[in-house]
Parts: sequence; C-alpha cells; structure tokens
Amino acid sequence: MKYILLILIVLFVVLPAFSQMPDSLFIERKAEVERLAALKKLSFTEDSHHHMTDFTYQRMEWIINPKVKYIKGKITTRFTSIVDLLSEVRFDLHDSLRVDSVMQRNEKLGFLRENHTLVIPLSQPVQLNNTDSITIFYQGTPFESGFGSFVQSYHAGSPIIWTLSEPFGAMEWWPCKQSLTDKIDSTDIIVTTPAGYRAASNGILVSESVDNEKCQMVWKHRYPIATYLVAIAVTDYSEFSDTIFLPENRNFPVQNFVFPENLESARNNVRQTVDLMYLFNELFGEYPFSNEKYGHAQFGWGGGMEHQTMSFMGSFGFELISHELAHQWFGNYITLSSWKDIWLNEGFATYAAGLSYENLLDGFWWPRWKRLNHDKIISNPGGSVYVSDTTDVGRIFDGRLSYSKGAYLLHMLRWIMGDEPFFEAIRNYLNDPLCAYGFASTEIVKRHFETTAGFSLDRFFEQWYFGQGYPVYSLRYSIMEGNKIMLKLDQETSHPSVGFFEMPVPVRIYGAQPGDSIDFRLTHTYSGQEFLLDPGFRIDRIVIDPDLWILKKVSFISKASFSEITTQPEIYPNPFSDRLFVKVPPGDVLRTVEIIDMDGRLVVKTTAISDIHTGDLPNGQYIIRIHTDRGTDTSMAVKHH
Ligand SMILES: [Zn+2]
Repeated sequence: MKYILLILIVLFVVLPAFSQMPDSLFIERKAEVERLAALKKLSFTEDSHHHMTDFTYQRMEWIINPKVKYIKGKITTRFTSIVDLLSEVRFDLHDSLRVDSVMQRNEKLGFLRENHTLVIPLSQPVQLNNTDSITIFYQGTPFESGFGSFVQSYHAGSPIIWTLSEPFGAMEWWPCKQSLTDKIDSTDIIVTTPAGYRAASNGILVSESVDNEKCQMVWKHRYPIATYLVAIAVTDYSEFSDTIFLPENRNFPVQNFVFPENLESARNNVRQTVDLMYLFNELFGEYPFSNEKYGHAQFGWGGGMEHQTMSFMGSFGFELISHELAHQWFGNYITLSSWKDIWLNEGFATYAAGLSYENLLDGFWWPRWKRLNHDKIISNPGGSVYVSDTTDVGRIFDGRLSYSKGAYLLHMLRWIMGDEPFFEAIRNYLNDPLCAYGFASTEIVKRHFETTAGFSLDRFFEQWYFGQGYPVYSLRYSIMEGNKIMLKLDQETSHPSVGFFEMPVPVRIYGAQPGDSIDFRLTHTYSGQEFLLDPGFRIDRIVIDPDLWILKKVSFISKASFSEITTQPEIYPNPFSDRLFVKVPPGDVLRTVEIIDMDGRLVVKTTAISDIHTGDLPNGQYIIRIHTDRGTDTSMAVKHH
C-alpha cells in the first residue's frame, strides 16, 4: 500500500516523462507512520474468537454524507460455525461507535462491548458447520487513529470521505473480523449519499439510483476479500473506463472515479493501466478478478492503496498505478497470513513496478529504478526483510526493508535462478490451490522457488530474508601471462548477523578497445577466494555488478602485483625444474598441493607431499595452490629446464 509522492524538482526540469520517473521517496512514508504508529497500535492481536466462525458473506449498507465525518450502517453477516457449539459471535468494533441494535430473525439480541470487541450471545447455539446470520445497526464518528481509517476532507472545495483500513483500521468504522485467516467469501456494499455524490467500492457496480435528494450505489463482489481491503470513497466523482480484452472474447473494464477537476489529466495517465494489465497478465497469469472489474478511485492522500478491484490513488503516476495493480495478485488475490510476511505484498508489488519499467519503457528508467532501491537499502548497514515485531506498524511498512529490500530479494533470486525458473515459480505460487484466493506465507513461496530452481534456498533466505545487511567486496587483480588475470575477491559484511554472503558475483572486464567487454559470474564461497579469468583481451578495468543484480558495497578494486594478491607460500626453487619443494610454517599441516597451468587446468595434485616431481611438466608459468590446515595459499612459479 501507501506511499508519499515527492516532487524532485531538479529531475523534473532535466528529465522528461515525469509521471514515469522512479521517485526516491515513493515508498518512504516511514517517518509519518512511525509518528502515528503508537496511536494506531491499539494492541490489536488476533484473538481466538477469529477461529470460531467462518464469515461467508457480509452485506454493508452505509449512509454517508461526505460533508460530515460520520457513519451510519447496517451490517448483515452470514457465518458458519467452525466449533462444535457456537454460543456467541464476536466482531472487532471500536468502542467509539454506538451499536443501536442487533437483530436475528426479527428478534433483538443482546450484546456486550469489551475492549473494542462486540460480543453477541446467540439465543440458539449454532452447531458445527451450520450457518446463521446476524444484522448489526450502528453509527458514530469513527475514532481518529491519526492515519486515515475513515477520513473526511476536501478537494477543490468538494467534500470527500474515504477509508483506508490497512492494517488494523477496519474496526474503527465498521463491525468486522480483522483476520488474516478468513476472507469474506462474498460482499454487497450499498452506499446512500446526498444527491450529487457517488461512492466507489469493491466489485461490480450493479445499480446507481439517483433522485433529487439522494444517490444509492450498489456494489457486488463475488470473490473472497480480506477485511482490510474493503473500502469506500464518496465524493462528486467523474467517471471514465477502458476495456481489457481477454482470450475467448472475454473482457472487463478498468473503471475510474476521479475528481472532476482532474478528469483530463487523469484520463491521460490512467491509460497506462491497460499496458500494465496486459504485462502482468503475461508475467503472472490472468488478472484474478477478471469476472468483475479493475478500477481506480481518486482520494485525498498522496499515495495509493490497493483496495480489491478498486485501488485508491492520490495521483496517477506510472509507478503508483503499477504498484497498486500488482497488489491485486500479490496481497489481494493471495494475502499474507501474518504481517510478518508483509514483503509478500509489498516486496512483490515494488518489484512488479520495477518489472514494468524493464518491460514497458525504453530501458531508460529500469537502471535508475534499480539504483534508487539498491542505494536506499544499503544506506543503513542493518535491517531484515523479516518483521519480528508485528505490533509496530512503522516497521511493517518500512519502505527500505519491506518494500525495497523485499523487491531486491526477488531480484537476487532471479539472478541466482535465471529468468525462466524465477517467473515459473511465481506463476506456480499464484496457481497453488493452497493459496489461491486465500493466504500464503514466506515458507510456501520459498518452496515454489526451490522447486523450479532445483536447489535449496535455505542459505539464501538465511542471508537475505532473516539476515541483515549486505556484503562489502574488495577485489585485487593481477595481469598474468597471455592477458589472463588472477583475481582475489574478499568480503566483509555490514552486519554481524551474516558472516558471509554466498553469492554468484557478477564482474565485467573492459579492455582498452571500445566494445571489448566480457562478463563473468564468480561463485563466491569464501572471502579471499581466487579466480583465474581469461577475458581474451588486455584488461583495462574491472567492475563488480555493473547491472545491479545484487545488494552490496564495493570497498575497492585495485590492480596489484601477484605477490600482493596471494600470501607467498614457501616453494623453492623458483624457477623450478624436475622437483618442487613445499614448506609450511611451523604449526601448520600440509594437506594438498595443486599445480594449475595457464589454461586453468589442474596438472598435478598431491596429498601431504612436500617434494613434488615436476619433470613431466612443459616449460611455462604455473599457479601453485597449497592447502593447509590454516587455509589456502597461492603463488606463481616458472618451470624451465
Ligand atoms: Zn503496496
């Protein structure tokens, strides 16, 4: 969900296509949220009462006047008992809202209020797997938690009311079940407003009846929906639509509700949704709510929120449209099962916006998107994608960790797996019947990546999901015979939670001639590891990770003499002829000696022998690699008769 847009005036002047530019503070609303987190916490934790009922249907009838911050509602809930004998039904509802009555089959039921919970004892207990329903009449001024659960404001002089419940705000404006284990299978939302206003919401607009006094809009949604994704926005909306065409002559609308004063510019920018929709259909599979609609409702906040089938948007930039659209797959269709897993929503949606830059624009913005996110992540030496404290809303929606680092975790997975298995894993995850229209965890996603990768990702997730920080590389290289280079890659880490990041490290070697460049992928398994590379031309310079595949800092890259790169082992004589002697320092034990020729071939390997016969080797330069109990030393030696 949610970002703040920042206008970068300098870039605006210099660069075209402002609405498509990656925004450096796009995601960063941390400070604001942290200020409000204490207010919003409400010490909300999932209660056992969430596991007594399965909400199968909710019909919300609301009366809203956007001039007045007030809600009057009638909520009918159909539920199935998932316990042997259900004697009461519980709803999350903020104590500031007044419950007028609770009805069941034309009879009033009693109720209790305790700690933002509405408890309704049933006159007849409900047996396991049986269904019943209850209607709650309530009204009041929703509690002001500070950050927009139910907001009244103005745009160009017109009043607006909009809601934004994520993560724990729904109960501040309607009786619901704030659960991450049960979606409402089906909803009808009926909003009555004074004439001149219209209400945008989830699902299909079934009817809109207007008379001199009021407008009533009926929205029907027949897909499961998580409580925090139910939303309404009411103001004097203008409307326009585009159409998305699907195979077999199917189609659905992109239905947009915008402020009348922004109609023209919005029409222009929102059009980008069509290309994005086709791209995501191709990358991830068909839009999950294609029987109904997708849409946008403009609201009075500078960011966006991915309400199901109707994203609320402050403005219509490329990245914001893309991000909220991606949430329809990642977050809405498949929802996290704990706020710990917030990256399954935000990391995926953030990366999907990156993929939009990569695939839909001309290649100009994609490297900039990567640079922006990469540099933001490494601006602090610590922090994990994993959220350990889910009562801290500021941490859940930390832009650097849940959004950017979550996105980069995916980008690095793509680097180590390759494009095809990576995207196949994402589609398999989305098609998994265990999560479709339900909930998922990091563990499930990881398993899908492992299945198509064909190898374990335990270590990767330890480093990049639970672990904090990033590797800091330093590289020394020395030019050898035949323009080959000997390279030594050292690594420190920015945070003690990870001792070593085991990653394939991309390096690019450039020659002096224009066009001379070659990429290598160094499988880095320990610090101080040496690599012999043959670029095929004389090296001019070397760059680590020029395409920003991995998170890292580069401490230095330097040219060095061979002896600076390697610790001189005790070999003699050098040059050698028929015999080569190896001596290890006192206290160390010689394990193996490897003699490698300039083509990288291992020509001699001995175990625990310090007197090596070399009479059969052709004249030339050799790398002598000596493994001892203390480690590995490498040196050069020349053979001649
Ligand atoms: Zn988001």
